[in-house]
Amino acid sequence: MQDPVSAHEPPHDAGAPTGWWRRWWGSQTPGRQDRFAMLAPVAAVLLFLAAIVSAFWYLRLEEMDREHEAVRRDVEYAQQRVRLRLLERQEQLMRVAHDISNQQLERDEFVSRIEAMVIQYPELQAVAWIDDRRRIRASYAAPSVAAGQLRPAGGVLRGGETESIYTLARDLQQPVYSQPAAGADGSGLLQLHIPLSNQQGKFAGVVLGEYSIDAILRYAVPAEVSAKYAVALLDGKNRIIAGNSVPPRKGPSQLLPWAAQPNEYEVPVSPVGNGLIIRAQAYRTSLGVIGSGLFWLVGALSAMTAWMLIGNWRHTRRRMQAQRALVAETNFRRAMENSMLTGMRALDMQGRITYVNAAFCQMTGWSEGELVGRTPPFPYWPDEDREQLMARLDDELHGRTVAGGFQVRVKRKDGSLFDARLYLSPLIDAKGQQTGWMTSMTDITEPNRIREQLSASYERFTTVLEALDASVSVAPLGSEELLFANKLYRLWFGVQTAGHLQMVAQAGVPEQPRLDESLDAVDSFVGLPTGTLTAARSENAEIFVPELGKWLEVRSRYLNWVDGRLAQMVIATDITPRRHAEEQAAAQAERAQSSSRLITMGEMASSVAHELNQPLTAINNYCNGLVSRIRKQQINEEDLLAALEKTARQAQRAGQIIQRIRSFVKRSEPNRTLSDVATLVSEAVELAEIELRRRNVRLSHYVAARLPKLMVDPILIEQVLVNLLRNAAESIEHARRPASRRSVELRVIPKDIDGQPVIEFSVLDSGQGLAPEVMERLYEAFFTTKPEGMGIGLNLCRSIVESHQGRMQAENIYNGTDVAGCRFSFWIPLAGAPDALENKNAGVAV
Ligand code: ADP
Repeated sequence: MQDPVSAHEPPHDAGAPTGWWRRWWGSQTPGRQDRFAMLAPVAAVLLFLAAIVSAFWYLRLEEMDREHEAVRRDVEYAQQRVRLRLLERQEQLMRVAHDISNQQLERDEFVSRIEAMVIQYPELQAVAWIDDRRRIRASYAAPSVAAGQLRPAGGVLRGGETESIYTLARDLQQPVYSQPAAGADGSGLLQLHIPLSNQQGKFAGVVLGEYSIDAILRYAVPAEVSAKYAVALLDGKNRIIAGNSVPPRKGPSQLLPWAAQPNEYEVPVSPVGNGLIIRAQAYRTSLGVIGSGLFWLVGALSAMTAWMLIGNWRHTRRRMQAQRALVAETNFRRAMENSMLTGMRALDMQGRITYVNAAFCQMTGWSEGELVGRTPPFPYWPDEDREQLMARLDDELHGRTVAGGFQVRVKRKDGSLFDARLYLSPLIDAKGQQTGWMTSMTDITEPNRIREQLSASYERFTTVLEALDASVSVAPLGSEELLFANKLYRLWFGVQTAGHLQMVAQAGVPEQPRLDESLDAVDSFVGLPTGTLTAARSENAEIFVPELGKWLEVRSRYLNWVDGRLAQMVIATDITPRRHAEEQAAAQAERAQSSSRLITMGEMASSVAHELNQPLTAINNYCNGLVSRIRKQQINEEDLLAALEKTARQAQRAGQIIQRIRSFVKRSEPNRTLSDVATLVSEAVELAEIELRRRNVRLSHYVAARLPKLMVDPILIEQVLVNLLRNAAESIEHARRPASRRSVELRVIPKDIDGQPVIEFSVLDSGQGLAPEVMERLYEAFFTTKPEGMGIGLNLCRSIVESHQGRMQAENIYNGTDVAGCRFSFWIPLAGAPDALENKNAGVAV
């Protein structure tokens, strides 16, 4: 078999020029090749036209030369004939003249000879015999000569021109031809003056012959010449005397080069000389007409061919442009097709694969060559799905397609499987007929994986939200719709928005913006970008929901919902247990405070006993004294009354002490009232002094005048003061200070802390001061340095002070580097914020 490649190759043994030509042709771009292929025929046509034109030109020149030659020959011939004729006539007339000169001819004879000549030779019109005195001796004229031209015998020669020729002939003694002005009838005349001489050889007149030039033309010029040409006789000034001429050509043939000058020839007629010129002009020949006709035909055909070629060329160029556009479009589509991630497969009506794109091959791992032309079952069908896919293909081929596409499994060449989604659409050809089916295939493994991940993350998300021990709900503003609710919300409020709205309303802040269009004017959120809105307005509130019997902490914030709507999210946490705990803690604290007071009193029991001992001893003494005095009857009524009054006062004092202690330790509900600071201080001092006195500690106190009333629970503040004063006394006792340094000072003054008016209570002692490690743990519950101490005093004091929005602090007092004592102080704001006091109603913890 022949190698198909080499069969198409050009023969290597081709001649060098062919080889060169092919190489050159091959090196041209296709565009240039097209241009050459188009221009060559036009050039050929133009060359052909040029060759035709030059051939015509050459032939025409040749022909013109020949014609010219013929004209010249004919004119020469005619001239010869005319000349011969004229010479013949001249000969005859000279013979007559000779005869006259020799006196062998008389007038009558002359006339008859002339008459015979005129009759025989029609060109000879008239002959006259003129003597030396210019008298006409005899004459004869043809009958056709007009009367005005007759020269009757006996007349005198007239006419300036004829006379001057006469003179010339006389002087020259030779025959002279002349041409007078045209006669009256317009026909030209030729005169011949032949001089006569007498016996002595003297001039004796002339014989004047007159020729009709017209007749000369008519009779002397051969008929074949005058038939072929326009023959004319011209005078010395090139005026036509006889004959005719060809009118100058007009029209398109004038454009032709050879038509520019007419083919003519002229030559002077001897013996007349330059005065008479014979001219022949060739008539237009039929050859010229045919030639130019042919020329125009060829020209028109060439032009038409060229025009058609150009038209064809332009048409081809348009085709080329369309083709280029098509190629560009095809390339573009191919590039698009190749860059596309969707696999494309075309089937013909029998289910044979006619086309697959790069993506399809890449997805399946089969090459285009392996797939195109295959009939079902296709190699990328998983074996186990074969029957099902066969049935589906059958459906596809019968047009039973599914609009949304369908999912199938596809086997790669390496045997692995992937999920794909197929979409089917009919393939329609240019004639509108269906030629097959186009299938697009998308690998949906990744989307499937993402979807699974998404649903898994959604599941995690909902699991977390559902498991949350807070209720989460989201509702758009101004709508009853519930966008999201977790399990706890549904448990508490069901699937309605009512719960959400109730929580929002009860929480009070943030107020719900009105999105009602009619209320736009009063919408407090108008013009606020949702970003700011969602960033701001996140607040907490604690509300009680009676339907649930629960305390809820409600936090709400605005957010942009997934659909772009502004929504409000409410997170509610059940804080009922915390509330209970807080309430219990408050009750506990209260109990702790009162037990602390009891403890204080217990600790002060011996002091109190000692304190009570004095009045009781006094009463006892008074009573004993009275009894003995009454027994002795030594008493008068006046003394008795005085003693009884003293006794009663002592009893009153004892009662007062007990009353004070009772009111201090009495367990009462927390009760804040506007209390007078001085009263409060004096009562505390009264109690503390019992202890201080026992320990031999002096107490001095200073209360600034005109202090405003404080909104406090007086018993609690008293408790704090008693506690601080007792600690101070204990510290002094512990430091074993000498009597002179056993003093405690209590000062109550108004102050300004951070621009806030407060009342400061300070207790300054001269005790041992606070060691650094004690300072650190001062307020810890049950921290004490005393063997009998409880360590809850200061802890309670701080709680009480802070529950009144006050602060407490302790510092050492130095004397040089020695600690000279310490100073405990606390302040309570002046009726600062009654509502704040109200809110913090139970925040005390032990
Ligand atoms: P207790 O008095 O029962 O020990 P407190 O809470 O009242 O409990 O005091 C705790 C400790 O703080 C005391 O044990 C003591 O060491 C120290 N302390 C309190 N007040 C003073 C003071 N004025 N001077 C020195 N130390 C003090």
